[in-house]
Amino acid sequence: MLTPMANRPDNGAMNTTTTFNGTTDKVLVWLEAYSGSNDFVRSVQSAHAHYGLSDKQYSAIERFMGREGQPEPAGIDLRALPEGSTFHAVEGSSQLAFYRVDNIVTGKLTDRWNGWVFVNQVIGGSKRGEKRGSQRPGSSYRGTHEPMMQAILQDPRASMARYGQEIGSCGMCGKVLTDELSRERGIGPICWEK
Ligand SMILES: [Zn+2]
Repeated sequence: MLTPMANRPDNGAMNTTTTFNGTTDKVLVWLEAYSGSNDFVRSVQSAHAHYGLSDKQYSAIERFMGREGQPEPAGIDLRALPEGSTFHAVEGSSQLAFYRVDNIVTGKLTDRWNGWVFVNQVIGGSKRGEKRGSQRPGSSYRGTHEPMMQAILQDPRASMARYGQEIGSCGMCGKVLTDELSRERGIGPICWEK
């Protein structure tokens, strides 16, 4: 439903800013002055200029304004891990936890999953694992295992080595480690050189 601009609540005498169409509505003033790069805001800005705003759009812009200027929460960026699937072991609250992290880099922008990262917890020896969140391109990790992901990122080499030592498969590529030195390192000879 469209709310005519004249019916918008006025933000009071404190806000004396006016714009080309004379509004003193804080949200609309902000929207009209917006020059940032957020696609959503820009699309609403254009809609506002042509047709006015729906209540939903108005509320969305109000929420967006509230977030502006506040520091972004420190996101966990799993793209920092090696490309492809890597395997990690980190200390959980009560026991060691094993993860496979798929950092998908195909280099093709048209590939559906290019730029995504998927987190799986390896349980009971199955390399498939159970889903523990993901990271979409341009975003940070969303999932419930943040402390563990933070631990992995602190020293990925160490968590990969730990996986290999515990499981007997290379933490970097998942191949079975056959010789004693590799089992000690937790990383196979080829990956060790990388
Ligand atoms: Zn390997």
